[in-house]
Amino acid sequence: MMDYFTGSQPSPVVVHGGRCAIGPQETTYASLQIADGRVTRILSDSSSLAIASPDCVEIDLSGFLVMPGLVNAHDHLEFALYPRLARPPYRSYIDWGTEILSEFSDVIAKHRSVPKEVRLWWGGIRNLLCGVTTVSHHNPLWAELQREDFPVRVVAQYGWGHSLAFGGDLRVARAATPEGCAFIVHACEGVDEKAREELWELDRLGVLDDRAVLVHGLAIDRSGVELMQQRRASLIVCPSSNDFLFGKLPDLSLLGDISNVALGNDSPLTAEGDLLDEVRFAMRSCDLSSQAAYRMVTEAPAAILRLREAEGTIRVSGRGDLMAVRDTNRDAADRLKMLSLNDVEFVMLGGCVQLASEKVYERLPLPVKKGMEPLWIDGTMRWLRAPVKELLSAAEEVLGVDGVCLGGRSIRIPAGMEAGYVYSNSR
Ligand SMILES: [Zn+2]
Repeated sequence: MMDYFTGSQPSPVVVHGGRCAIGPQETTYASLQIADGRVTRILSDSSSLAIASPDCVEIDLSGFLVMPGLVNAHDHLEFALYPRLARPPYRSYIDWGTEILSEFSDVIAKHRSVPKEVRLWWGGIRNLLCGVTTVSHHNPLWAELQREDFPVRVVAQYGWGHSLAFGGDLRVARAATPEGCAFIVHACEGVDEKAREELWELDRLGVLDDRAVLVHGLAIDRSGVELMQQRRASLIVCPSSNDFLFGKLPDLSLLGDISNVALGNDSPLTAEGDLLDEVRFAMRSCDLSSQAAYRMVTEAPAAILRLREAEGTIRVSGRGDLMAVRDTNRDAADRLKMLSLNDVEFVMLGGCVQLASEKVYERLPLPVKKGMEPLWIDGTMRWLRAPVKELLSAAEEVLGVDGVCLGGRSIRIPAGMEAGYVYSNSR
């Protein structure tokens, strides 16, 4: 990736005027002070005056509901620009993985010639657009993902294997997992006996324990749930991907008995949309309550992924990771069931504004606007702290102008009058 600097804000930030989600069903009008990336004070007074200092950056979020940045428990960031690739239904991920390599070899070859760092940045942006601030990337932790200016936080401490079929020796991968970190592996992704049997195979290998995090678990049955409970293993479900590939949904009334279950938004190779689309899909198709869904994209993945900085909550000394949506007088869990990318108007990562709608952008102090670029996505305009223009050109060079889709949504740089408007306001 090219040289690119964030408009990082060394001075403290005060976010005021908004109603803050303290929990899924608790909100309070509050001012949040953020310094050195962390929430340093929460004042139950929506006036910023009490805590503002002369060098303090003030952001007015009156009329907005401020929520913790979401945690996406499962993604493969380098596949953000791919279309859905499959000729379903399949019996298992093994059939799918084998078939796409031959059936879609041309599409895969074309997308792979987009530089990987460019694809990874689009993966970050796809998450940022829907209010995600922390992502668990399932694949190697490429250097690009650890850059200070990467659009979202990528979990850096983890162990992983792809799966029993494609992951080599999982005992070696498990042994290489840093102490106290999650060991993440795709498992039981399918509807056949082989997929069901995978759980028991993991147990025989000795890698099913309290650090184990299984992704999908579609074929886990009642006895499998009991085994997961005994081993205190965790689960990440990705319902829209399962529905697409296998025509089957995870049974959350069964799998919900596993102590820790999070919702992940797999890559666009299989998922229906972004994490917010996944939340709505899960609530609609898997009979998931809004409180449960809220927990599955905030505190549950934070616990499963062993995050220790209060990710998924708004707390003093926790990360200054926030998102904001228009306040409709509902609580965060209730609001979540209606949300899509179009509703996310503000995202802050460690005290740095990463995304703003036009409405919020107008309210930002000039130094904060610096380094933000506009992106048009399916009719919505967003200001992002990313080299959007450069990233889009790099992708278009390979995929063609109008050939670039992000998670299935068309994207472009705002053109014509829009551009005149936005650029005259940004420079
Ligand atoms: Zn996956």
